[in-house]
Amino acid sequence: MAGERNPPGWTRREALQSMALAGAAAAWSPRALGRGQRRIGVALAGLGHYSRDLLAPALQLTRHCRLAGLVTGSPDKLPEWQGRYGIPDRNVYSYDDLHRIADDPDIDVVYIVTPNHLHKPLALVAAAAGKHVWCEKPMAMDAAEGAEMLKACRDNRVQLAIGYRMQHEPNTRRFMAMAKERPYGRIVKLRADAGWFVWRDGADGAWRLDPARGGGAMYDMGVYCINAARYCTGMEPLAVQAWDETARRDLFKGVDETIRFRLEFPEDIVAECVTSFGRNLNTLQVDCERGWYMLSPFQGYEGNQGRASDGTVFAPQLGPRPRMQAEQMDQDALAILENRTPRAPGEEGLADMRVIDAAFASARAGGERVDIARG
Ligand code: NAD
Repeated sequence: MAGERNPPGWTRREALQSMALAGAAAAWSPRALGRGQRRIGVALAGLGHYSRDLLAPALQLTRHCRLAGLVTGSPDKLPEWQGRYGIPDRNVYSYDDLHRIADDPDIDVVYIVTPNHLHKPLALVAAAAGKHVWCEKPMAMDAAEGAEMLKACRDNRVQLAIGYRMQHEPNTRRFMAMAKERPYGRIVKLRADAGWFVWRDGADGAWRLDPARGGGAMYDMGVYCINAARYCTGMEPLAVQAWDETARRDLFKGVDETIRFRLEFPEDIVAECVTSFGRNLNTLQVDCERGWYMLSPFQGYEGNQGRASDGTVFAPQLGPRPRMQAEQMDQDALAILENRTPRAPGEEGLADMRVIDAAFASARAGGERVDIARG
């Protein structure tokens, strides 16, 4: 499936696939590193679905990074991880002793891949330890937390990059360029829908149904709609209206299953969006004065493709998963090695958090128009 994620679970088939990937990676011939360049040592914090099935295998495909450390609250996972990826005990941390990582010369980056409520606290510890921070989306629980993370990284002179993998995908990058070039004239309207069907109420992934740990569709998938609306227009939205259309209230208590929202941009551009944990949604369309262009899927792990009104085809790029994640981490590693701003810096995450804050406020007020805070 080309959706955002697969159902979790370390099934035998997935384990075999992952091992095959690791084998393929061993045969992968990395581009020669530049003079004086070294591989960036990455510690994965949070060893759940995304780390296990996408990021760790992707790190085996990167040219500029290596999986060098593990941070987990589940020591039972360590033998398998350490065995598979050859991570020595000295590079293994718990969430509680993460500050010790300051003395670990093998680690350059802490990549935070935990439930959303832990993004900020772990980022603050990693930054204070002098490590660069890569953080999964959504950046934080709200804009205030995001701003704290930015400040901590600035104060400690480390980079902060958000795991917006789509901003590394070539068709998406083409759409970002078209925001400036406007090949079909003025942008009039945009549609971005992102969702997947959440059915479980069991332990694995239960945090996605828990308000205290950052559950709900808006944080998980709505952020793709918001980010896409911003990168397709190249503008910041001014105001939002949002409607909570949660249907399964028995499963979604205190978190959103479905939110429909409408973003107002400068130049009278409007983005109509739906995000859901009750439906599979994965479409992005930009309507302009003289035509349109679209991607569907637009936020898949692979196979993101589309077309335009004049017959232009946007064929899938980058190849099968987890090539996109490898590209993302290589680009973010190069930003560190070359001391330049990453493609999706903390400011990108913060801009989206401001929109999420306003969307939640609007939904609570039954769809009232809410101004989005300025940066
Ligand atoms: P997951 O539930 O599969 O894994 C979460 C991990 O965090 C588990 O290993 C769990 O043990 C650990 N954890 C630590 N403290 C926890 C707590 N208090 N409650 C629950 N788990 C706790 O989740 P995931 O799908 O790997 O998502 C992790 C992060 O990655 C989220 O921020 C999510 O938004 C992001 N993500 C991003 C993408 C992407 O395409 N960029 C895809 C999937 C997930």
